[in-house]
Amino acid sequence: MSDERQRLRIADNVARVRERIARAAEKTGRRGEDIRLVAVAKRILAAQVKEAIAAGITEVGENYVQEAAAKQPEIGAGVRWHFIGHLQTNKAGQAARIFDMIHTVDSLRLAETLARRAQQLGRTVEVLAQVNTSGEESKSGVAPEEAERLVAGIAAMNGVRVQGLMTIGLWHPDPERARPEFRLLADLATRVQDRTGVEMRWLSMGMSHDFETAIEEGANLVRVGTAIFGARPEGRG
Ligand SMILES: *Cc1c(COP(=O)(O)O)cnc(C)c1O
Repeated sequence: MSDERQRLRIADNVARVRERIARAAEKTGRRGEDIRLVAVAKRILAAQVKEAIAAGITEVGENYVQEAAAKQPEIGAGVRWHFIGHLQTNKAGQAARIFDMIHTVDSLRLAETLARRAQQLGRTVEVLAQVNTSGEESKSGVAPEEAERLVAGIAAMNGVRVQGLMTIGLWHPDPERARPEFRLLADLATRVQDRTGVEMRWLSMGMSHDFETAIEEGANLVRVGTAIFGARPEGRG
C-alpha cells in the first residue's frame, strides 16, 4: 500500500473507532470524550503509529518493553505510553522508566519492584490491577476475590499510583460472550473502591472486536489495535 493510502486508511479508521466509541458511550449517558482510546501498536511500525498520532491518537499501547523502547525515539514526546503485556519482574525497571501507565500489575511483588524503580527515577507510575475474569489458566491477573487485597497493597506504596482495574477477557468472535466478564470487572471496581477507599478511576477493558460491549458495561479505557492499524503481521503476542 502506498504511504498516502496507508495514511488515509489509518486516519479513517481512527475516525470510525471514535464514532463507534461515542455511540456506545451515549448508551450509558456518557460522551465519547469520557472514554480514553489506547492505540495498540504491537508489531506496528513507528511510521504507522505516527500516522495514528497525526489523526489524533494521544495514547499508545505496547505489549513488549523492548519494542516500545525501540519505537519511542522515532515517535517522540507528546503521547502517553501504556504497557499492556505481561510484565516480567526483570523488565519492571525499564518499564517504570518508559511507560506512563502499566495495565497489567498482578502481584504485590511486581508492584514493589515497579515502585522501587520509579522512586529511584523520581517518577510516579500509574498502574492498574489486572484481574483474570475468564478463569482461564493461560491468562494473567489475580482472581476477582484477590483484587481488593492487591489494590490496597499497591495503594500503600510510593512510586506507583493504583488507578483502576484491567481485564483481557475471553476471546470470542461474538462480543456478547465477553459481556458477563466486563460486568464482573465493573462491579468489582465499585466494590474495591467502596472497601478500600481507593478511587477506581479507570476500567481498562475491550479490544477491537468487543470495545462497544465493554463501554456499555462501563469501560473508560479501551485498547484497540486491529481496528486502527489493520491486521498485524504475524508474530508473538
Ligand atoms: C493486542 C492487544 C489488544 C488489541 O487487540 P486488537 O484485537 O488488535 O484490538 C488489546 N489488549 C491487549 C492486552 C492486547 O494484547
